[in-house]
Amino acid sequence: MNSDQLWEKVLAREESTNGLVYAVCTTGVFCRPSCPSRRPRRENVTFFADAAAAQRAGFRPCRRCRPDSSPPDLNFERVVLACSAQLLAGGTLSVTKLANVARTSERQLHRAFDEVVATTPRAFASAVRVGRARAALRGARRVVDAIYAADFASSRGFYETVGPTLGMAPDAYRRGGADHVLRYTVVDTVAGPAVIAASDAGLCAVHLGVADSAAIARLSNEFPRARVERADEELAGAALAVASLAHGRDAGRELPLDVSATAFQARVWAALRRIPAGETRSYTDVAREIGEPRAARAVARACATNRLALVVPCHRVVRANGQLGGYRWGPELKSALLEAESAECELEARGSVQARRAQVSTPVPDVSHQGHEEEQP
Ligand SMILES: [Zn+2]
Repeated sequence: MNSDQLWEKVLAREESTNGLVYAVCTTGVFCRPSCPSRRPRRENVTFFADAAAAQRAGFRPCRRCRPDSSPPDLNFERVVLACSAQLLAGGTLSVTKLANVARTSERQLHRAFDEVVATTPRAFASAVRVGRARAALRGARRVVDAIYAADFASSRGFYETVGPTLGMAPDAYRRGGADHVLRYTVVDTVAGPAVIAASDAGLCAVHLGVADSAAIARLSNEFPRARVERADEELAGAALAVASLAHGRDAGRELPLDVSATAFQARVWAALRRIPAGETRSYTDVAREIGEPRAARAVARACATNRLALVVPCHRVVRANGQLGGYRWGPELKSALLEAESAECELEARGSVQARRAQVSTPVPDVSHQGHEEEQP
């Protein structure tokens, strides 16, 4: 193919060009032909068969079209392959083995996990083992039997990784949470139905986008012998707060919470609750906020284990590059929630401008915002 034909592909912003990139000598940057940026002048362009060749010639990859990263669908496939293998193996495969299964390098596998599921291969393996441990715990005669059945080398490791996910002491979980009554209600929100569950101590789960029947199944599965009771009236206040939260309004700070967490998760979740509606933070921002500037990945994991959608607003944490990042209840919901919040904030801002204008003409103090400030913890 001659360079005129290649140039045609650039002008046409062609999608599939087999790795072909073009470099611009005036900017030192190279792009995919499909890059949405402005077309350079023909005489400043050099073509390369792939990104590696362009990089060897001293060009930098463009930040918009990311010509140096592999297409996301390829990464998706790698992650699906790796996750399936890991599930089959019960979370025991090393990252090296996983990379072999996914036919890629360990480094690329890490990037793929980060891009597709916003976690690491190790964190995924650990989640699989936690799932196994919980299942083992349910039928076990003693907690220690479950620890061995799930391949935990020490009970300390078990208590540290599995314990915080149970919502109760491991032995109570083993007995099926028989002493617990779980009350729940379902409320319609702008983000679809939300299932709200509370123990005697407080709110213990808010799940989005689950139908009523699936919600009961989920709760019964988590707490097999807990009595799961519908309690619409009792939880009406909480339901209202959750619905307002979904609408982008600050509410629900006063709701008592019943969540067990590691010290780290607790710090992350507390930091998330301080992010105002309508704003977002990156995982790194949150890591800095809690005084662990290098723990961005651990922050992402803590977000992924959040059980209290909206109440602990993990949807307000996005990637530093502006991408949405993962969300336990689905990325579509995450973006819908963020949109609702920014729209609500805009309305509020306009409302307060109008209120200020109104104040100029009629000097009546605006009391509607005073209570709001007192709500801050
Ligand atoms: Zn580009």
